[in-house]
Amino acid sequence: MTMTLALDRCDTGALRRGACPSIAAPMQTGDGLLVRLRPVAPALTADDLLALADLARAHGNGLIEITARGNLQLRGLTEASVPRLAAGLAAAGIVPQTGVAIEVPPFAGIDPSEIADATPVADALRKAISRASFTLAPKLAIVVDGGGMLSLADMVADLRLDAVVVGGRTAWRLSVGGDRQRARPVALLPEDSVLDGAMAVIAALAAIGPSARGRDLDVAALVQMLGARPIQTVPAALSTHPLGVHRIGSETVLGLAPAYGQMHADRLAALVEGLSACGAVEFRLAPHRSLLVRGLSGETLAAARACADRQGFWNTDSAHGRTISICAGTAGCASASFDTRAAADALVAEAGALLDGSIAMHISGCPKGCAHPAGAAVTLCGTAAGVGLILDGRASDAPSAIIPAGDLKPAIQRFGSVLRTRRAEGETTRNLLDRTPPAVLLSAYQGQS
Ligand code: SF4
Repeated sequence: MTMTLALDRCDTGALRRGACPSIAAPMQTGDGLLVRLRPVAPALTADDLLALADLARAHGNGLIEITARGNLQLRGLTEASVPRLAAGLAAAGIVPQTGVAIEVPPFAGIDPSEIADATPVADALRKAISRASFTLAPKLAIVVDGGGMLSLADMVADLRLDAVVVGGRTAWRLSVGGDRQRARPVALLPEDSVLDGAMAVIAALAAIGPSARGRDLDVAALVQMLGARPIQTVPAALSTHPLGVHRIGSETVLGLAPAYGQMHADRLAALVEGLSACGAVEFRLAPHRSLLVRGLSGETLAAARACADRQGFWNTDSAHGRTISICAGTAGCASASFDTRAAADALVAEAGALLDGSIAMHISGCPKGCAHPAGAAVTLCGTAAGVGLILDGRASDAPSAIIPAGDLKPAIQRFGSVLRTRRAEGETTRNLLDRTPPAVLLSAYQGQS
């Protein structure tokens, strides 16, 4: 199979901040070049994953990440090795997606509980956008969500199409700029006009300019243009977290995630071989940095989970560390000033109960903040002076307190201890942080009584 390296909007010229790293335009990071890719095929075989592991070892530093949106990232490549990676992917028959990112649920067309199969709508939209040759924002994201157990209700997008049932018929709710609950509703479209409606919104984005995002759209003008009446926000159907065991129809599906979204190729290969021995036949990349495994049975599930544990893959949605975002750290990035993985492990050990999902925590080797560009309630960030603590900010913000990297573990112990002591029964960590004076947290971090 031949892989096309045609440039798309994400791939034009040298990569600038905010663009999408790809094979045609990898991103320079502290550990060399980074390539992000999503195979066109939603179902990967064991051979596909073993080939990816081989390629990550041969052409990069062996580190592989799964992103929050379910893309793969290979790290530590060089200008010379990227073309060899591309050739290796082509030889393995793995074709990376290009063009605007259009997400559908990982079990679209398979999950009997879904309202509609999102795949044909997404495919038609992808072709229509390609034909129109618009210049769109490099990070523009579209979600087409047919519902079901593993829906994309909590995925933020510039444009969303959510399947709903109206009068016994399927319709698509078009909204812009958010997840299913927060996106601004525009129109309820019958199946035969969903493509025209979505393309009208895409054209409106293109008319605003090449950086326009969903938040920039004038919803009232869209409603008028589409001749539709404004619709109310639908009740948020909470999506199931992919981690853990799911029954999808008559199938048993196991959702796994490499701890903190990162794995070495050797671990991935060992996992795939172990799961294949348990009957796994197919793997699907999914949001929340996860991998969904098909083909397991009730009899082999325990052995599959034990294999995942051995190889460092979380397989339960109560894994405390899943709300921590970390970058490669000193294990894989020359820009890092401390071991982010060890810090995350210390945080889980000392403050695991505080990782209740109500806040995001970010551990970044340097202020670039690769792992979590958005703000987080608590960020630990490497600086020239030591490891900084940033409350409700981004890695690039000025830290409120800095300690030497060698003192980080006791600092995390003190930080966790002061929060545990102050926490009321049943209180969320978000609430606890909101009512705790920052000076108390900064003093604990710095070891000042
Ligand atoms: S944030 Fe982490 S991975 Fe990114 S450049 Fe800094 S140290 Fe490297």
